[in-house]
Amino acid sequence: MPNGKDRNNFIKPVVMIGALTFIVCFAVCVFHIYDIRQSMEKEINEQLLVQLDIAGEILTDDIVNTESVVSAVAAELGESGKGSLTEYQIYRILNKYKAIDDFQAVAYIKEDHTIYFDDEWKRDASDMIREPLYEIEEKQIYLTDDFWGDNRDYLLLFLVPVMNNGERNGFVVGLKECSRILDGDAFSYLKKAGDLIITDEKGTILDCNFINFKDQSEKYDTIYDYMEKVWGADADKISELDGLISDIEQRDGTVQCKNKSRDRFFYSFSSPEVFPKLRIVSMYTENIYTGVENTIIFGSIAACMVMMVSMIIFSVIVFKHNSSASQLITQLAFEDEITGGKNLNFFKEYAAEMLAKYPGIPFMIHRFDISNFRYINEAYGHVRADQLLKIIIEEARAVFYSKELCVRMDADQFALLARNTQDLEERFFTFTDKVNTRALDIGIRYPVKLKRGVYQIKNKETDISLMIDKANMARKTLIGEEKECVAVYSDLLANDMRKADRIESEMETALFNREFKMYIQPKWDILEDKLYGGEALVRWMKEDGNMIYPSDFVPVFEKNGFIEQLDLYMLESACKMIRDQIDEGKPAYPISVNQSRMLLNDPMYINRITEMLNRYQIPKGYIELEITETVFFTEREKMISILNELKEVEVQLSMDDFGSGYSSLNMLKDFPFDVLKIDKEFFSESITSESSKWILRMIIEMAEGLGIRVICEGVETKEQVEMLRKLGCRYVQGYYYSKPIPAENYVESFCGEIA
Ligand code: C2E
Ligand code: CA
Ligand code: CA
Repeated sequence: MPNGKDRNNFIKPVVMIGALTFIVCFAVCVFHIYDIRQSMEKEINEQLLVQLDIAGEILTDDIVNTESVVSAVAAELGESGKGSLTEYQIYRILNKYKAIDDFQAVAYIKEDHTIYFDDEWKRDASDMIREPLYEIEEKQIYLTDDFWGDNRDYLLLFLVPVMNNGERNGFVVGLKECSRILDGDAFSYLKKAGDLIITDEKGTILDCNFINFKDQSEKYDTIYDYMEKVWGADADKISELDGLISDIEQRDGTVQCKNKSRDRFFYSFSSPEVFPKLRIVSMYTENIYTGVENTIIFGSIAACMVMMVSMIIFSVIVFKHNSSASQLITQLAFEDEITGGKNLNFFKEYAAEMLAKYPGIPFMIHRFDISNFRYINEAYGHVRADQLLKIIIEEARAVFYSKELCVRMDADQFALLARNTQDLEERFFTFTDKVNTRALDIGIRYPVKLKRGVYQIKNKETDISLMIDKANMARKTLIGEEKECVAVYSDLLANDMRKADRIESEMETALFNREFKMYIQPKWDILEDKLYGGEALVRWMKEDGNMIYPSDFVPVFEKNGFIEQLDLYMLESACKMIRDQIDEGKPAYPISVNQSRMLLNDPMYINRITEMLNRYQIPKGYIELEITETVFFTEREKMISILNELKEVEVQLSMDDFGSGYSSLNMLKDFPFDVLKIDKEFFSESITSESSKWILRMIIEMAEGLGIRVICEGVETKEQVEMLRKLGCRYVQGYYYSKPIPAENYVESFCGEIA
């Protein structure tokens, strides 16, 4: 059924919106991460440079501080007498100052190259201090790895000449180990960021935080070596760093590198102002950012996920809401509120599905309604009437097979898809029976009669609506009081229906254009062998000259009510003719006109007749009303009183077609008829058998006894006339005397001048 399709229709946009949201979120995330990465890089690089600068400044302070301590040593040694200081005094001064700064050693070198150490020993310094240093005039910082002559420790030498009365008197040297430069707190931030290395302007590693420098220095003599071996840097990046480090003018900077496995790394460097030969280099990998970035990325992904989950939850809520809404819509679209069963929409889809699925099964469509449902509604109320509709659906469910389906279409109209099995009629009978039993249970005593049109579905037919219409067409032929409850659709019937439709569409204009003509069939008094009167019979003369007989259109008019207008028109035509005859001084004879049941039900009927008879001043007894016997089967009392009223208007009343239905002579006793018209069917069929003749004689005698005239219609032969005469029948009507003829012809041929 259609639900699946609807759901698909719904899922598609939801999935698309979901995917789109995801793509947008993802793109925003990626852009956001990229942006963050860029600014993080910038931020961290700047931060590192700041830290490097701070480290450089601290180093500068340190150097300046050390210098001043060494200068203080030199000053004290110079002031205290022209080289006349005792060894003991020299050691005391050196010791005093050594404690101020963390020197490895403080020493005084005299002009004679004797060197005095703070730890109170002396020796010849020629192998320690190179020649030109003895000549220094100003304080100086000097970097060496060879002070102790073992090429091991890099040392910073702070050299300050000792001046005595303007005379140079040797110099003081403060020794500081390069390997302790990075020990200070000033470098803690940088140490955390990555590898921290102190080099000279040639890139020689003086101190570093990544290894035990003293043991491993051989492995990586220079920072370039280290960069290549440990970081896997490209040659051009190494030479770039070389250029930067050896350029003393270049105070700081950052270089971005890629190693052989394409990972990024960076280095930043800075140098102390007072001794730019010292270079502080910080090397770090991308991870320094990604650590922070990862948090942000994780945050972004988490945000994205939260959004996605929210979106999914939202979609699910919307979907659930929507599917319950669509369920409701489906319910409204396919279910019938009153019976709780399915409705016509569902029926059509279901029937189409069954026909397609089981082409071998002969299916039928039945279209039925409840006879006189309006009456049930009025007499038992809407609630019970609705209950009855529900019962029908429930019982149909119980009685009809699988693949069969019965639904209420509208009001009391039902459609049934049934399999054309041999027991179908029997099943329908059982169904009706059960419905009636249950109707009785709820207090509906009025018999539930189901009037049904049937359509046998032909192969390859697909239009269910059309099939239902065809079944309905058949059902409509049952309208009226027929005892028959089922009609089967046939092409002939369809043809009739089409004809009826055409008749209906043309009838009003036809009446207006006076296409309905009054024909008259004479009635004969066989006793006196002379005209007794005539019956007005309608003919429809079409514009094209074709004549249509009442059997083709009267039943249609009886159904649609137009017969009332036609009957009155015919009555007026008869009145006019009689009036003309009288006015022209010609002999006038009674004329009978046919009156339909509908007319009798019109509350204005009596008034209309009275008005018409008065208008044409019709003498008493000249108009006879023929009313067919079936009219009197129902609402007997009402009909009796109408006939009595008509009698007062002084018209003749005749019972038409006596013997064609369930006629009863009893009726003659109760109804004030003047004439009994014995039906031509009865007469022609009965004429041969003696017993029928006897019955006819009895009827005639009895009627005459009640003062009712008897007229036999459909008399075609002389033999019939003779026989009727013998049976005591005085009046006859039939082709033997004349067919119905145009009123003018009747007047001309039968109503001669008054003798
Ligand atoms: P009905 O009232 O029984 O009319 C008698 C029908 O029998 C007429 O058919 C007439 O032509 C036909 N008939 C007369 N003599 C013979 C005969 O010897 N042999 C045979 N086989 N038939 C004969 P018609 O004129 O075709 O009328 C048919 C029916 O149409 C009438 O039956 C009547 O029920 C109805 N009808 C005709 N005109 C009117 C009308 O103005 N109003 C109403 N309500 N019904 C009308
Ligand atoms: Ca008649
Ligand atoms: Ca008749």
